[in-house]
Amino acid sequence: MSLDKVRNFSIIAHVDHGKSTLADRLLEFTGAVTERERKEQLLDTLDIERERGITIKMQAVRMLYKAKDGETYKLHLIDTPGHVDFSYEVSRALAACEGALLLVDATQGIEAQTVANFWKAVEQDLVIIPIINKIDLPAAEPERVIKQIEDILGLPREEVILASAKEGIGIEEILESIVQRIPPPKGKVDAPLKALIFDSYYDPYRGAVAFVRLFDGELKAGDRIKLFSTGKEYEVTEVGAQTPKMTKFDKLEAGDVGYIAASIKDVRDIRIGDTVTLAKNPTKEPVPGFRPAKPMVFAGIYPTEDTTFEELRDALEKYAINDAAIVYEPESSPALGMGFRVGFLGLLHMEIVQERLEREYGVKIITTAPNVIYRVKRKHSGEILEVRNPSEFPDNLGLVERVEEPYVLVTVITPKEYVGNIMQLCQEKRGEQKKFSYLDENTTMLEYEIPLSEVILDFHDKVKTLSRGFASYDYEFIGYKPSDLVKLHILINKKPVDALSFIVHRDKAYRRARLIVEKLKETIPRQLFEIHIQAAIGGKVIASERIKPLRANVTAKCYGGDITRKKKLLEKQKEGKKRMKQFGNVSLPQEAFLSVLSVE
Ligand code: GDP
Ligand code: MG
Repeated sequence: MSLDKVRNFSIIAHVDHGKSTLADRLLEFTGAVTERERKEQLLDTLDIERERGITIKMQAVRMLYKAKDGETYKLHLIDTPGHVDFSYEVSRALAACEGALLLVDATQGIEAQTVANFWKAVEQDLVIIPIINKIDLPAAEPERVIKQIEDILGLPREEVILASAKEGIGIEEILESIVQRIPPPKGKVDAPLKALIFDSYYDPYRGAVAFVRLFDGELKAGDRIKLFSTGKEYEVTEVGAQTPKMTKFDKLEAGDVGYIAASIKDVRDIRIGDTVTLAKNPTKEPVPGFRPAKPMVFAGIYPTEDTTFEELRDALEKYAINDAAIVYEPESSPALGMGFRVGFLGLLHMEIVQERLEREYGVKIITTAPNVIYRVKRKHSGEILEVRNPSEFPDNLGLVERVEEPYVLVTVITPKEYVGNIMQLCQEKRGEQKKFSYLDENTTMLEYEIPLSEVILDFHDKVKTLSRGFASYDYEFIGYKPSDLVKLHILINKKPVDALSFIVHRDKAYRRARLIVEKLKETIPRQLFEIHIQAAIGGKVIASERIKPLRANVTAKCYGGDITRKKKLLEKQKEGKKRMKQFGNVSLPQEAFLSVLSVE
């Protein structure tokens, strides 16, 4: 098929605006998936998802579309992840396309990730087709949304397509506009191979599989490929595309989107953004803009209950074959023993990793409160220390010239009745307002520079609660800024528990200390002796609480009656929500380690 019959595009949208549903309709309309298959496939996906978690997603599908002009076109739909944690992947996916369908929910209008994704598409010079989805809903306000698209994104109203992915309205118009408005890929089949890796996953049969967009050249099984960033060479065992099943093809050529398998053992050898070329006739220039994903949030993961350090290490090693974005290294904590410091893209990523380690690799773990990377500049040497673990943060700031923390630019879009609440929240989060504008008479857009540490704390929940679910936000890293930070120690019966210590802005230290000792008082179970909880900066105690001992007769009562039943019940409780770690003779539950996250 000649290049002018190929179209490569993504669907971009805010979460829940209907990307997946529209993708299903496009696959059905073009006959890539029949009604019957769709159900089968849906079940398949659920099964795999149950086994393997949420990384299973449709990366890139090929479909054939017979257009009204009588010609058949090869369309490649490249999926993009929705959540802000994975936004760097969106840019990679867009780099493989010439166009993007921008979906906007007719009842919600433009939200934070609509704007963020729109700008990513603009940066990549993509043709953007605006689509208003969910026009079937009674609450749909297409006219208001058209106006937003004109005013905020600067796209003409004539280009907007009205659709309902659920009811199948506007699907053919969308396919026709893909063919007519999005340009075919440029590229030369006879030039040296140049392919961009935009995604990867681990397949037990094929090994690590790379999803690629070919810009020049062609590729077949048996070819020897070279990865630009590492210089490593592999022999290709299979090329193909998802249709949406993994389907083997004889070759991939310039303009195509598809997959490469080459018996690669570890997904970390395939770097997203890297260029694939042929070993014997390599391209001189890689595809521009290689930027690896960078973990922003770190937390300690420690074995608990029957899990050993070695079992946790094995689990992490196996898990990492599947997730190129995590980093980890061993660390030891006086309170928790041997474990790992693990770096994540964000809090959602952290939750997923935690859950998959436990569910798929059968280890029991305790996770400490997440923190960002702080930079500490020493006074005399000028040496800069990157602190990934609060316990490495210096107590004596006399020897420190300055401390810096990472900042993000947060964009919040909210109905105007909640704007006061959101502004107050951003101020409490040490934010500095950069912009305030009206998107239309009812909707405002705010921009704040906020320390990342404040955003990962409880920003998400607060934004949702304070706006009754109507506000949305997005953020991007902007750099490091000096900050007046101190280390807060938590002491249990006078002994500091390193895994509970954390870094906090001096102005907030007292309030935070008070709230945390109160929270710990709630979460630590009463024992036969008194437990003394203190929060201190340097050697100075700034908050404290006591947990009274259980009285002897209370315990006696507890062991009366049907002992085995009670024991079972207790065990069950322990298994479920009360995972404990022993500190001296005090049992600390998982909640204690995350109590920093749930205060304020
Ligand atoms: P995504 O997060 O952008 O992939 O959104 P989904 O495709 O998962 O859709 C989110 C929700 O909106 C689901 O419950 C869909 O059934 C629903 N939805 C998607 N498109 C439409 C539509 O055109 N009309 C209506 N009424 N609901 C829709
Ligand atoms: Mg989806």
